Amino acid sequence: MAATGQRASAASLARPPAFRGSFRADPATLAAHSVSAGPFSIRPTAVAVPSDAEDVQTLITWAARQGTPVVPRGGASGLPAGNVGAWLAVDLVPGLGEIGNVDLTTGTLRCGAGAGAATVARVASRAGLAFPPLPSSAERCTIGGMVANNAAGARSFRHGATREWLAALDVVWPDGSRSSIEAGPDTAPTWSRELAADLSARLGGTVQDHGWPRVRKNSSGYALDRFLPGGDALQLMVGSEGTLGIVVGATLRLTPQPEERGVLLVGLPFLDSIPSASSAAAEANASACELFGRRLLDMAGLAVDPLVRDAAQGAAAVVLLEVEGDPGQVESGLAILKRWADEEGVGSVAATDEEGQERLWKIRHAASPLIARTAERGRRSTQFIEDSVVPVAAVPNYLRGVSDILERAGTEAVIFGHAGDGNIHVNPLMDLRALDRRTRVRTILEETVALVVGLGGTLSGEHGDGRVRAPFVDRIWSPELVSVFREVKERLDPDGLMNPGVILPLPGQDPLEGLWAD
Ligand SMILES: Cc1cc2nc3c(=O)[nH]c(=O)nc-3n(C[C@H](O)[C@H](O)[C@H](O)COP(=O)(O)OP(=O)(O)OC[C@H]3O[C@@H](n4cnc5c(N)ncnc54)[C@H](O)[C@@H]3O)c2cc1C
Repeated sequence: MAATGQRASAASLARPPAFRGSFRADPATLAAHSVSAGPFSIRPTAVAVPSDAEDVQTLITWAARQGTPVVPRGGASGLPAGNVGAWLAVDLVPGLGEIGNVDLTTGTLRCGAGAGAATVARVASRAGLAFPPLPSSAERCTIGGMVANNAAGARSFRHGATREWLAALDVVWPDGSRSSIEAGPDTAPTWSRELAADLSARLGGTVQDHGWPRVRKNSSGYALDRFLPGGDALQLMVGSEGTLGIVVGATLRLTPQPEERGVLLVGLPFLDSIPSASSAAAEANASACELFGRRLLDMAGLAVDPLVRDAAQGAAAVVLLEVEGDPGQVESGLAILKRWADEEGVGSVAATDEEGQERLWKIRHAASPLIARTAERGRRSTQFIEDSVVPVAAVPNYLRGVSDILERAGTEAVIFGHAGDGNIHVNPLMDLRALDRRTRVRTILEETVALVVGLGGTLSGEHGDGRVRAPFVDRIWSPELVSVFREVKERLDPDGLMNPGVILPLPGQDPLEGLWAD
């Protein structure tokens, strides 16, 4: 791990020979590539913009020889600072944005890692197909970033995360070599089958025997649960946040658009009703089970919106449930959900026509941008505990626990998320004028980590660990699993040049590095 942690100076980063893309270190370029969608900002030493996948290979081969650490970067919509770092930033958007034609015989679509997720979805839609894991940030994020974080959309309850929708990945490895890896253990390369066998022997037993969290969704650590059983290299790459190689292309699996959809908005009297919403959603084979916290409803003026008012009045929170399929499936699914809503809810609103559904979904999709813009009386919504996932039964205790932590820190949060999966987005409103604001963030973060550990969860359901969560790897994961995470990193990236400090921390790494920096 010779180079890990070393920060190459800009002066030592001369343009790589044979690299065709742009390579710059002027202040404006560095500033533009130092920001992410989260509150973290770290200046790179230089910025490389490869022209295409071959150029990524040229760059990484050179970086490996030089011992230069790199930070891959897509749409920079990631929140936990995995897309910023004090090394060479590799901007994959301009040169790797190509999108192929939909292959109707296989139901797949090939694209470059820099392709915009929303554009890809529009291409699929024109062929009558869908790419289900599309996140709310689809207009900004790339397919490469989705793969790297194992991103998931609001329909993850039924359709899962990005990893379920990949047929193959084209990867440039840390030594500059490049290969295509297909999904499934049968086509796994020999090296990955051998690696999985070695690691399994070393671990002894399954990951569950070593305390793998029993959550419905996870984007923290390396996906050993998916990798070790068959040595499927693609499963290891998904969610590896640029720490094991650079994804330069992907073949996506698409699915037919559903014939119909039905949406039900239900007001919950207590937070304790959330697990029963998830059970009803499972019984109805729902595609989505999404949560809006009370504060978000009030902030967005939704509590008085004529569309939402009936469901939201007197509610502790509201859930949006969606069913999809043929007309019979939608009708029976909605009937199950309505029965449950009559028993458990304080009110509900249904939308079976497209326009009504769109209005209800707009409310859900407006949550993140609304929160990002929020700056009330000097308080800004700050993402650092924004993606924890706990077993669904533990969600009410998680919400109460977080609320106590925030109250002790003198603040509150805007809350929404994927209730059905137990993946809750908590966005504390931090007072940027307070002199002790960093201390408060640290306390909230430490206490939330302890809460999540106590409830058997992980710190990320879909956004990844980034730099902010990496220092807590030992708290969330058992020593045996952390040791296998480290072995994975050392075997694939022995010089530690791929996004150092993400997923696994560097010695002494501060989780708040770059917080509110300009
Ligand atoms: C308003 C808003 C809403 C959001 N909604 C959702 C949501 O609904 N669901 C969800 O899951 N997330 C959501 N996110 C988080 C974010 O959009 C996703 O994590 C997204 O997948 C990041 O993609 P990106 O292209 O922006 O990647 P970046 O932010 O550029 O990078 C993210 C990570 O991936 C690595 N990376 C990027 N490209 C590559 C590559 N080609 N090869 C290897 N590593 C790479 C980076 O090094 C970094 O670690 C939201 C964010 C915002 C700001």
